[in-house]
Amino acid sequence: MYEHDVIVVGAGGAGLRAAIAAHEEGADVALVSKLHPVRSHTGAAEGGINAALRDGDDWTDHAYDTMKGSDYLGDAPAIETLCETSPEEVIQLEHWGMPFSREDDGRVSQRPFGGLSFPRTTYAGAETGHHLLHTMYEQVVKRGIKVYDEFYVMDLAVTDEADPENRECHGCVAYDIKNGEIVGFRANNGVVLATGGDGQAFDHTTNAVANTGDGPAMAYRAGVPVEDMEFVQFHPTTLPSTGVLISEGVRGEGGILYNAEGERFMFEYGYANNAGELASRDVVSRAELTEVNEGRGVEDEYVYLDMRHLGEERVLDRLENILHLAEDFEGVDGLVEPMPVKPGQHYHMGGIEVNEHGETCVSGLYAAGECACVSVHGSNRLGGNALPELIVFGAQAGYHAAGRDLGEALVETGPSAAIEHEDDLGAPVEPGALGPTDDDVAADGGERAADGGQLATPAETVERTVEQQRQRVERLKGRDGRNHAEIRDKLQKAMTRWVNVFREEEGLKKALEIIRECREEYQHVAVSDPSDTYNTDVIHTIETRNLIDVAETITLGALARDEFRGAHWRAEHQERKDDEWLKHTMVQWSDGSPELYYTDVILEGAEKAYEPKVRSY
Ligand SMILES: Cc1cc2nc3c(=O)[nH]c(=O)nc-3n(C[C@H](O)[C@H](O)[C@H](O)COP(=O)(O)OP(=O)(O)OC[C@H]3O[C@@H](n4cnc5c(N)ncnc54)[C@H](O)[C@@H]3O)c2cc1C
Repeated sequence: MYEHDVIVVGAGGAGLRAAIAAHEEGADVALVSKLHPVRSHTGAAEGGINAALRDGDDWTDHAYDTMKGSDYLGDAPAIETLCETSPEEVIQLEHWGMPFSREDDGRVSQRPFGGLSFPRTTYAGAETGHHLLHTMYEQVVKRGIKVYDEFYVMDLAVTDEADPENRECHGCVAYDIKNGEIVGFRANNGVVLATGGDGQAFDHTTNAVANTGDGPAMAYRAGVPVEDMEFVQFHPTTLPSTGVLISEGVRGEGGILYNAEGERFMFEYGYANNAGELASRDVVSRAELTEVNEGRGVEDEYVYLDMRHLGEERVLDRLENILHLAEDFEGVDGLVEPMPVKPGQHYHMGGIEVNEHGETCVSGLYAAGECACVSVHGSNRLGGNALPELIVFGAQAGYHAAGRDLGEALVETGPSAAIEHEDDLGAPVEPGALGPTDDDVAADGGERAADGGQLATPAETVERTVEQQRQRVERLKGRDGRNHAEIRDKLQKAMTRWVNVFREEEGLKKALEIIRECREEYQHVAVSDPSDTYNTDVIHTIETRNLIDVAETITLGALARDEFRGAHWRAEHQERKDDEWLKHTMVQWSDGSPELYYTDVILEGAEKAYEPKVRSY
């Protein structure tokens, strides 16, 4: 068993920043990651990082834009922390050597991004995430932080108390991808989950194959609520054949969207008369699909994004990467022809419920980055706001996991923060009736509850989890059964078909039915590759289980929320219902099934109270 003070699971932007912060606190830190750190998906981030750095800009304006972008479902204290702290974190990156793009006078460049009232997105060409990862990885290497890469974390080592608030996390268990060994990691102080997104729950996504929601699924099964899972962002400019992202930076630099008739539809049809192409992502995605649905799309599928008028010099200077992506993945030369684009799954606003310190309701378990929901994005994230979240709240999680007391968290976490479950929320489903079955829990690593009783020492808790996971892999390898890929494919298609930009009650119910079928079929899943060396069959099989859990919580939340807010559009409910729905959705695994409850959104910040307004661009 490996032992460290702080174990950070995931080595993308959030994990690296958390590890550096914990190390600064004097902790012995380890990063455990299924990928090498610089292969983490943060490396795919193109457009930039929002920070109010310039004269004429102010972090309070950034906070206002973020709250408006969230459609008033973000928590004001967390949003204010994000926007106030982002500039110092960006300056810290610059001091660590991040090669930001610069103006002729040497200042770091900033460009406009969707939903922002000021051009405050700092960037490094169209490869911002790549440089961010390398800059922070250098700091990790410099500090001698131990990195266990190609270790796939299968589960958390958490004690058994009936009430999750009384549970403790003592570490995690990982599958050593190189040799198939199952090893325990004991954390003396804390475990930080920084496992990134879960776009693989959908079949058209900008996310990497590694983005499988492992963190939220593990935390959820350990009893931590997942928050606002119904809010999934669909980015308006992805390449149709692959889902590869064409950065919002293209529109930030002046790129224009056209329909098949050559009309600049954002203005022509009044989708966003002021901001046009730079309206918030949810608005632009709906506009594009409306164009397609009304017969003005190209090949009934997509629209065009044109950057030819920007000129070769500017494109090569600021968007060169985009030229390569369009050429390599779509065979289009962006300098001479418009690029085909359509909406694709891109980001998950929801995630593991945490407070501003990254704490969950399980003692010793923290989370940060895309897998977490500190609630700064609410129902819609603004472009350029994820990367600051990684560094601001990644650092917070790292400091706290290492034991630093930074004072009271302004945003609470855990069931204690919950308002009473209200029966009059109009939820059209009985949550318990749709949840995972007891069979499922018993068949796949759920022995924890069956065994009962908290073990005496943290080390024994880790050892017991190691043994459970060893048996789990043996069981999967020792039987014939369904291949994970068929189940995953079915799940992804259902999510893309029914839980997409436009959502209808019947479709959501259909999706839930299919997700339950997938869960049932998963009872008979088997690993056919017997080897111990780089056995991706084992990993993908376990990931598929995680995707099923994540997909179910997304769909349950979406079905219950009978309003239209941010990225969550409902055919039957075309208004935002502030009287009923200024609430965060919490889904918690309880007694073998998901339970929904709600907590109040905090609109009162230290700086100001935010009054929900009509959101137009
Ligand atoms: C194409 C693209 C472009 C984007 N552009 C921007 C942008 O310009 N600006 C912006 O603000 N946001 C952008 N975003 C969003 C932003 O990049 C992501 O939200 C963010 O990078 C996620 O960082 P993370 O550290 O949370 O996760 P990741 O960078 O995805 O890292 C996750 C880590 O967890 C590890 N991991 C996962 N599961 C396990 C497991 N079971 N065991 C061990 N390790 C595990 C992985 O190996 C990896 O190291 C973009 C997103 C995409 C997809």
